[in-house]
Amino acid sequence: MKARKSPVQSEESTAPSKTVAPVEIDPSSFRRRLMSWYRTHARELPWRGISDPYRTWVSEVMLQQTRVEAVIEHYNDFLRRFPTIVALALATEEDVLASWSGLGYYRRARMLHRAAQFITRERNGALPRTAVELRTLPGIGEYTCAAIASIAFGESIAVVDGNVERVLLRLTGRAERNNAQGRAFVQRQASLLVPPKRFKDGVNAAGDHNQAMMELGATICLPRAPLCLHCPVFSMCATRGEHITQPRMQQKSRPAAYLLNIRKRGVVTEVLLERRAQDVSLMAGMYELPPLPQDAVKDREPMLRLRHAITNTNYYVQVFAPQGRKDRSLRRAVPAARDDLRWFRTSRLHSLALTGLARKILQRLDVMTVHPVRLPEPEPVPVEKNRVPARPKIEADD
Ligand code: SF4
Repeated sequence: MKARKSPVQSEESTAPSKTVAPVEIDPSSFRRRLMSWYRTHARELPWRGISDPYRTWVSEVMLQQTRVEAVIEHYNDFLRRFPTIVALALATEEDVLASWSGLGYYRRARMLHRAAQFITRERNGALPRTAVELRTLPGIGEYTCAAIASIAFGESIAVVDGNVERVLLRLTGRAERNNAQGRAFVQRQASLLVPPKRFKDGVNAAGDHNQAMMELGATICLPRAPLCLHCPVFSMCATRGEHITQPRMQQKSRPAAYLLNIRKRGVVTEVLLERRAQDVSLMAGMYELPPLPQDAVKDREPMLRLRHAITNTNYYVQVFAPQGRKDRSLRRAVPAARDDLRWFRTSRLHSLALTGLARKILQRLDVMTVHPVRLPEPEPVPVEKNRVPARPKIEADD
């Protein structure tokens, strides 16, 4: 009998990670296994099981390149502050950035705000329902429009983020190829697996399937040491382990120094902050601790050292404080113009558009409180491997 040709297989594989034989994957059987695992193992997250497309949109934008724990903390606060598209549209950009502070990639917040204003002005506050229409909004790329259309509106369209891409490459035994051909291959495989129907008997088959694929990549098919023995599609997988990936961009290292200047005014504590220029490409208009030139801190002992990564640069940060009330040498060394510096009450810091690094420093030094983050109980997988990577970046951002 002639072998059935699988729609999802490694026929284009050019450099498999191991000696892998093409494994036939029957889409219906794959979906059955995946969904039965997802129903019992999916983490309870605040953006799951909701029927408000606006909330789905906010969560999908926040999850790009950001840890789930950080998103949970900001998601609830953000929606308390801006519960509807109209409320977001009417807010000032500064308020939106303040709510986004700590999540990074602030261009996402600016674009979300701009899109909310466009929807309020041009569409009576209603989010478009199809991926094609969603794609026309500011800041909504291929990934986000597919995610909203399928999760919020049941459209049968595949969602491909870095987690899904990894699952599909391993499943088919294909090495990572960061080019148009490689991306087209992954998109094709994802589209072949996504259920064809919209809502059926109240079940959103396509939306649930897409979320299950992302969940599988985020919790089982991990970038390093995947938990294959817990994988619901183990028998269909050509790789069963790590696959060949392309070398990552080399990380650069840079030193950075900041001034922590605090003063008391009666019972009020204030901290000196600098506003970043409006015309810089990163974090324009946001507040940070005043940067210090390296010469000014030579031979001084920092009160805090930490590492902070932004895209492919690791900043080795040192924070310095004046030694006594009369020590003005550090303050004089700050190159910023006087107009860019301002004292803020520490009790107001949560409502300010702080850079992620400034927030991190102020929290580490107890100048600012940390919101507690509550996560659902993790699934019983080996403790040392139970880590959840952030959803990898899939759209251009700052
Ligand atoms: S068997 Fe392993 S490599 Fe294959 S999809 Fe499952 S977790 Fe990933």
